[in-house]
Amino acid sequence: MADEAAQTLYIDGKWRAADDGGEFPVHDPSTGDVIGYASNGGRAESEDAIAAAAAAFEEWAGKTPYQRAAILSEAHAIMLERREELAQLMTLEQGKPLKASRNEVTYASDFLSWFAEEAKRISGVTIPSARADQRFVTMRQPVGVIAAITPWNYPISMITRKLGPALAAGCTSVLKPANQTPLCAVAVLRVFEDAGVPPGVINMITSKRSSEVGDAFLDSSDVRKLTFTGSTGVGKMLTARAGATLKRVSVELGGHAPFIVFPDADPVRAAKGAALVKFLNAGQACISPNRIYVHRSIYDAFLTTLQERVAALRIGKGDQDGVTIGPLIDDAATAKMVEQVEDARSKGARVLVGGERVTVDGLTGKNFYSPTVLADVTRDMVISHEETFGPIAAVTPFDDEDEVIRLANDTEYGLAAYVYTNDLSTAIRVTEKLRFGMVGVNDINPTSAAAPFGGIKSSGLGREGGYEGINEYLDTKLIGIAI
Ligand code: NAP
Repeated sequence: MADEAAQTLYIDGKWRAADDGGEFPVHDPSTGDVIGYASNGGRAESEDAIAAAAAAFEEWAGKTPYQRAAILSEAHAIMLERREELAQLMTLEQGKPLKASRNEVTYASDFLSWFAEEAKRISGVTIPSARADQRFVTMRQPVGVIAAITPWNYPISMITRKLGPALAAGCTSVLKPANQTPLCAVAVLRVFEDAGVPPGVINMITSKRSSEVGDAFLDSSDVRKLTFTGSTGVGKMLTARAGATLKRVSVELGGHAPFIVFPDADPVRAAKGAALVKFLNAGQACISPNRIYVHRSIYDAFLTTLQERVAALRIGKGDQDGVTIGPLIDDAATAKMVEQVEDARSKGARVLVGGERVTVDGLTGKNFYSPTVLADVTRDMVISHEETFGPIAAVTPFDDEDEVIRLANDTEYGLAAYVYTNDLSTAIRVTEKLRFGMVGVNDINPTSAAAPFGGIKSSGLGREGGYEGINEYLDTKLIGIAI
């Protein structure tokens, strides 16, 4: 316990402790050490936060888009000034290597500058009427108070991807960050505070009582929109329950991305791409390839390069020089790797690299899993269906295009997919048939603040970023005018 209760609830412009003084420890996943404490907010504090957001709404919505954009631009500048300290904190709290944390802070700040500009482009239309004495005009207005729930794997950018467009649209917000990464959320809220976001416009409840906070959000008729990033199970439950008060909902959920390498592609380039994207954030990314399909004619060449690249990855604490893979977030995540690999091995997969829990010299953390390549993976293996969310590349050979499209689409998920080919016709034909929200063609990073991010099927509803991103926070009002 800390000497004084942690004050990480941010309500109506003030930092507060939980009403009962409750708090929870935050850990460095590479050592297990306690690095700080966060307030354990509950229902009453969540209701206070919603009330503060509701009270602040009229004034914030009444500011001009240029005033809102100026504050977002200031937040963007402050976030970049603090890039290094935010990155160090992210590496400590979440575990990803420092270089990846720096990239994430830049990506997070991009949403602030992008939506500062989009604020100025919120506009309606005129619509002709069939009646000569009538005119139609639309205006677009903020939906009201929004509730945002974010995950631990991208603990800064998932916040700005939601609060950036909410601020731009004129909405006020209550945020609940993941319990593993509340300190990053506090640091982001301090950026907004220092940029001049008025009291009540953004509020935050850190908590380990997620269902209590979630219930307060769901039950409130003041909360007009719920935006969630996290697991498919929780996202579906929240979406169903949001129907009771007819809230707008956008959810970014799990994925099971196929990565398809056609026979005309360069197997070395494709394998380098796969090694990069699969092991980003130790595989803890919703767009991480979960099934790698390689044409049989280049299968061995692909595996040779992939194996070399993965064997060269260095596991350790994210702030150590040369470390490219950090720890997994917790014991449950590591146990899942053990189960998926054992299942695949028992059903005939070959383990070319890794395949075991490891310890790292000098570190007490128990959640390190060696970067792994599995070859000859088949449909009956758990890894072919269940999201891995860890450092395991599962590779399967294929023989023809129809077969691989069928395999790729044979999943409940529909977030990201990847296609490697040098044939433009193949690229377009296959991309059109893949039932996913995002497709990288010879590209391992189809993401940007300027591009719409999101999935279909059990991967989610709605889009974040791009010019669509702000629509999730706006209602259209029609005005019919008799003249
Ligand atoms: P999770 O368990 O669903 O948690 C995500 C957030 O939801 C956390 O803030 C969590 O709070 C909260 N939560 C959990 N149960 C809740 C409830 N009953 N009511 C209200 N809030 C609740 O997901 P995770 O395991 O942390 O995150 C990994 C998942 O997120 C993966 O499936 C991944 O694919 C997905 N993801 C998707 C995207 C995307 O954009 N599509 C991006 C990143 C991650 P606590 O932390 O307090 O439990």
